[in-house]
Amino acid sequence: MKILLIEDNEMNRDMLSRRLERRGYSVVMAVDGEQGRAMARSETPDLILMDIGLPDMDGWEVTRILKSFEETRHIPIIALTAHALVTDRQKAFEVGCDDYDTKPVDFARLSEKIEGLLAEKRCHELQA
Ligand code: MN
Repeated sequence: MKILLIEDNEMNRDMLSRRLERRGYSVVMAVDGEQGRAMARSETPDLILMDIGLPDMDGWEVTRILKSFEETRHIPIIALTAHALVTDRQKAFEVGCDDYDTKPVDFARLSEKIEGLLAEKRCHELQA
């Protein structure tokens, strides 16, 4: 299973990618929204972890774009934000995120969400 991690902070990128790889995922990384958008198409990841605070466009905008295209619409997206605001949660579902979590990341909780979405995705693919 391949995960695309879109995150501008190098420390977070290193930490998360290492832990995901240890769990057996293959990880590809993008450092800003534009690269993330491009890699969502070129890498065809099984799931995307989307940082919301990105230097060019924010993660909400990238999600909105990816969910508006047929080729990327089916990829589950988990938004990661620094705040636990109710408005962030609403926004996440408004723009089409499949789930939402807050930073600093609780890795056990995050990997449960990842597993859940990947299992759902497999079910849909079997039905299709
Ligand atoms: Mn950031």
